[in-house]
Amino acid sequence: MQLTLPFHLENFIGGNFIGPLSGQFIDNINPATGEVYGLIPNSNQKDIDLAVNFAQKAFNEWSVTSSEKRFQILNKIADLIDEHSNELALAETNDNGKPLWLSKKVDIYRAAANFRFFATGIMHFAAESHSMENKAVNYTLRQPIGIVGCISPWNLPLYLFTWKIAPALAAGNCVIAKPSEVTPVTAFLLGKICKEAGLPDGVLNIVHGNGPSCGEAIVNHPTIKAISFTGSTRAGERIASIAAPMFKKLSLELGGKNPNIIFADCNWEKMMQTSLQSSFANQGQICLCGSRILIEATVYEKFKTEFIEKAKLITVGDPLENNKQGAIVSKMHFDKILNCIETAKQEGGKILLGGKAIKTSGRCANGYFIEPTIIEGLGPQCKTNTEEIFGPVVTLQPFNTLEEALQLANATNYGLAATVWTQDISKANIIASKIESGIVWVNCWLLRDLRTPFGGTKNSGVGREGGWEALKFFTEAKNVCIEF
Ligand code: NAD
Repeated sequence: MQLTLPFHLENFIGGNFIGPLSGQFIDNINPATGEVYGLIPNSNQKDIDLAVNFAQKAFNEWSVTSSEKRFQILNKIADLIDEHSNELALAETNDNGKPLWLSKKVDIYRAAANFRFFATGIMHFAAESHSMENKAVNYTLRQPIGIVGCISPWNLPLYLFTWKIAPALAAGNCVIAKPSEVTPVTAFLLGKICKEAGLPDGVLNIVHGNGPSCGEAIVNHPTIKAISFTGSTRAGERIASIAAPMFKKLSLELGGKNPNIIFADCNWEKMMQTSLQSSFANQGQICLCGSRILIEATVYEKFKTEFIEKAKLITVGDPLENNKQGAIVSKMHFDKILNCIETAKQEGGKILLGGKAIKTSGRCANGYFIEPTIIEGLGPQCKTNTEEIFGPVVTLQPFNTLEEALQLANATNYGLAATVWTQDISKANIIASKIESGIVWVNCWLLRDLRTPFGGTKNSGVGREGGWEALKFFTEAKNVCIEF
């Protein structure tokens, strides 16, 4: 199989590649060059209705397909992703603007790992039994929900798309999935891979389009019983307002404004190296990036000087070359980030490094590049420190005590992830227990074990993904009580 890319992408519905029923398309732009390099279906409710019809037909058989067979098919998908990792990584980079080395090392590697993880997971998934001494026994059946909707964002396109689809399929559901309209290509290619791997027609349907027409048609569809969504808090709120009155199961993985807390007693070198990554990796477009750096006052100046020196060395440019950072995903997001930097200045922030768009020449002259940006002098309540920017922009704030660090860390409405740097186990434990976030990394960042619960508190979301949490989300628990 060759993973070639047509100019017009098509939806993958009922095992066939077909255009949108409306005949309308949206431009697909390469953010590193600013050029339209393809068209994607602008799907609407009619396309979703069609996909649901096929999914309903497929569900009868897929829901009773043995877990061993499901394992084999999902594992084959993982193998084919690995086999085509170069083509997929190139597609991801052209669509998203991230460096090619990063697409290979993180995005495509993880997409295969997601399928492999849940393929094996379903072979070990078991349900509970509750014995009532000599009176009765209860057992829990965990049955597939039916047809579920998976909607994903643009920052880690195939990585997050497969993170939802793999457990949903493993648990025996049929899926209507929509990737971000900004980065649709690897999802389109995944359809080809699934076909090749022998996934029965209609089990996975991949529909392209924007949020309000295509995404909302998925959320609104009465036959779709659960929605797994990753994206902005704004869209999450809208989705919850539609899905909650319909009593759909909902998993919402939303935005973050994560603190990176640095104590003077930390392993300095490791902290410095990792903080550069947690600030600027993927152009700062990872929901888990530590965009608010909180530094113990005694080492604030030392941190600032060294951090700026090291951040200056980050190369930004053509993602197909050996740069550390590539392009921002779209013109719209590029403008948003630059506006946020303007706001920071108006709020009294001092730009210590960066703050501007980068002009390049040659292939990427019209691309969307922004300098790694470091800002200081802003308090915890300003917009810059409370609203998600989702770009290569971090702020520095000093603290004097552990209590003050906690206060600053918890000063936003978000609660996704936090990082703590200290060699003092007591301090680390206190922070970990009192911080308002779903994930805490101590002396590391983005170290992921796929078995652990993943998700946020407060405005960062509802529910947990990962491991058994995901398989439980994608199944309905039914208790059966048998009296002796
Ligand atoms: P977005 O909310 O604009 O879009 C995400 C997806 O939802 C896209 O597929 C989009 O088309 C769709 N969508 C938008 N509005 C919709 C609606 N009304 N109904 C149904 N679908 C709709 O987010 P984005 O800009 O693509 O991604 C960036 C955001 O995602 C950031 O806020 C980031 O923090 C968040 N994110 C969170 C996590 C996490 O695990 N918590 C991971 C990655 C990204």
